[in-house]
Amino acid sequence: MASVFGRYAPSPTGDLHLGNLRTALLAWAYAKNSGRGFLIRMEDLDERSRPEFVTSQLKDLEALGLTWEGEVIFQSHRIDEYEAAFEHLSSRGLLYECYCTRRELAAITSAPHRPPGSYPGTCRDLSCEEREAGRAKLAGTGRGPALRLRVEGENAPLHIALVDAICGEFTGIVDDLVLRRGDGPFSYNFVSVYDDGVTGVSQVVRGNDLLPSTPRQIYLQECLAMSRPEYVHVPMVMNAEGVRLAKRDGAVTMKELAAYSWTSADIIELLGRSLGFGSVRSAQEFAAALAGENVGSKPWLIDPKELELGPACIRE
Ligand SMILES: [Zn+2]
Repeated sequence: MASVFGRYAPSPTGDLHLGNLRTALLAWAYAKNSGRGFLIRMEDLDERSRPEFVTSQLKDLEALGLTWEGEVIFQSHRIDEYEAAFEHLSSRGLLYECYCTRRELAAITSAPHRPPGSYPGTCRDLSCEEREAGRAKLAGTGRGPALRLRVEGENAPLHIALVDAICGEFTGIVDDLVLRRGDGPFSYNFVSVYDDGVTGVSQVVRGNDLLPSTPRQIYLQECLAMSRPEYVHVPMVMNAEGVRLAKRDGAVTMKELAAYSWTSADIIELLGRSLGFGSVRSAQEFAAALAGENVGSKPWLIDPKELELGPACIRE
């Protein structure tokens, strides 16, 4: 097995659509082109996760010709490990309880002088009485407090800079991110950073909608004494209205497209052409076409209606 990896980490909450498939293919191709192994991780802590979607997603990735090393990693099998890492952070005094309700957070994080969506540390330094009051406030809601990471910076708010392989230099705010939600589950940021760190992932390829949360994830990596992977934030796929592609937009999954005569090779060609490649018909050809290219950060706009015309539409 390789010692360093790229990865694709879907949530098994539905079939993969063209946007997911394009990111998966890119993640695989970047890993291959850099001599890395490739891992698949099912981010199945979401309560909407279903075993049948694990099966259908893996089948689609196989049909595209993607290969991966070892067993598929399931986050739902790793809760004990997350608990231990979480306890370790807690024992170092790095976590604190946040009693803010959803509505309070919406008001706080949209305040005009704050960077959009960032948490200003409202609950960071409360007195014992204030904590008691916070717990009492939540008591009737069926939720406990969320647990946040205490971010220490010389000049609050802290900013961290990174260099992304596609997007270039990016500097973003690091606020006190939630590691465990008030209703119990660990947050996406926590488990995804932890898993990447302990499984040898040294390259993270994913949609560029996640670029703004990357500085927070880097801060958490540093708290966990993990090294920073290479980041490759790839452009998004949008529907005809310029909104992020979703399953309701039409025939956008492999199963749905098969009904309009699309084969796996046709779909690879479609995804390749969306990135300016010529006629690539296999994952290998896709990776070869990607080598040395910068795919840019411009989104791919697609009208799923046109796909109903069948694969001939790509070559018109
Ligand atoms: Zn709070």
